Amino acid sequence: MINSSLTQLGAALRTKKISSVELTQSYLDRIARMNPELNAYITLNPEISLAQARAADARLANGNADPLTGIPVAQKDIFCAKGWLTTCGSKMLHNFVSPYDAHVITQFNNAGAVNLGKTNMDEFAMGSSNETSHYGTVKNPWDVSRVPGGSSGGTAAAVAARLCAAATGTDTGGSIRQPAALCGISGLKPTYGVVSRYGMIAFASSLDQAGPMGRSAEDLALLLNTMAGFDERDSTSLQREKEDYARDLNKPLNGLRIGLPKEFFAEGLSGDVAKAVEAAIAEYRKLGAIIVDISLPNTKLSIPVYYVLAPAEASSNLSRFDGVRYGYRAPEYGDLADMYEKSRAQGFGAEVKRRIMIGTYVLSHGYYDAYYLQAQKIRRLIAQDFTDAYKQCDVIMGPTSPSTAFKLGEKGDDPVQMYLSDIYTIAVNLAGLPGMSIPCGFGANDMPVGLQIIGNYFDEARMLNVAHQYQLATDWHGRAPQL
Ligand code: GLN
Repeated sequence: MINSSLTQLGAALRTKKISSVELTQSYLDRIARMNPELNAYITLNPEISLAQARAADARLANGNADPLTGIPVAQKDIFCAKGWLTTCGSKMLHNFVSPYDAHVITQFNNAGAVNLGKTNMDEFAMGSSNETSHYGTVKNPWDVSRVPGGSSGGTAAAVAARLCAAATGTDTGGSIRQPAALCGISGLKPTYGVVSRYGMIAFASSLDQAGPMGRSAEDLALLLNTMAGFDERDSTSLQREKEDYARDLNKPLNGLRIGLPKEFFAEGLSGDVAKAVEAAIAEYRKLGAIIVDISLPNTKLSIPVYYVLAPAEASSNLSRFDGVRYGYRAPEYGDLADMYEKSRAQGFGAEVKRRIMIGTYVLSHGYYDAYYLQAQKIRRLIAQDFTDAYKQCDVIMGPTSPSTAFKLGEKGDDPVQMYLSDIYTIAVNLAGLPGMSIPCGFGANDMPVGLQIIGNYFDEARMLNVAHQYQLATDWHGRAPQL
């Protein structure tokens, strides 16, 4: 069961080969065994999970099951879920039990999926290694001395270690794709606005987007079918016709034009990653694709632009955590100002404070025009690069991350090195485009390598098709870490 696809699990549940209660319990047992080492979950709540599983079994017996009914899905701890501790990886929310469900959680509940637990993450989704979590680092199941990536590192580790059937993540600058790459799983960040952000704790609202993480493109399509859809409670949610993201999975790739940006294969890319990605491109040629050389000239500006805009938005979004409206309150303080200061000083970790300070600076009088406004202008140019590129190709491919998983602690005290982890992923968020990562081999130290596939706006179904055809021809996505 542990290696079954979501479609196979769904069939096993519908034909009563296994009940949702049995399936959920088997995952809970596996989590109890392995989570103390991997630390992929922050919160488990077997009572709620098993109650949902019993309800799913009743629904399965009635014959009105959805494809995900009864399937245990883990949720990144950034999604508010009623009755669940929802920490966002921060001490600030160490005792916040959400009174309501995020839209994504509601969608999974309506589908009858089982919430298996809340996965670990970098604090407020700021990080690329999961080391900024207040709840301890997550370990990469392929090598426990290495990071799983971040910020959705708990989710990526849980999927890779088979501690859930599938899970959710969020991606502001790469947080679905980069941990997916580092843990050898598949992950998709949809076009901005496809998945509602309602109830998803905000980091940088113009960039944040939730998406599915799982073991194959086929699984991601089923998950996205559940997650996507208009929601009037998110003003950036897009009103579009409901799509079946699995509809094109089996289309042949003959004539598909794949753009390879020269900037993605330049200095900074490690040799082992380049080799695996090139082998994947060769496989696509065999599948009938045509390779087109393209350029995304503003790629190198994406990190500086992101590290102005994302902290600017974060400094505003995080102002609500003041010990009064939301969040941790210092046990001892003098006057009101002192209470705010102590609560925020004690409640936030170092990386979050760094972002709040940068954000406040770039938005302040006198610096706003020089930094924030300039960054917005370059953001537009970065988006234009992609618009130009898509005149010549259907999808863009390249590495997801410049290297495989690094050692725990290796980049901890060098924020700029850490920020460079997202050099190939951030432009996609700045442009609002969909992007995904799928496993495409192994690099140095037998660590997984991810292939990034970037689509044009609303081209998720095509990207899933492109990924699925590769996964039919190769078995990288089927490899599991030895645990
Ligand atoms: N690593 C990036 C950051 O630290 C992206 C994080 C994310 O996508 N949530 O901001």
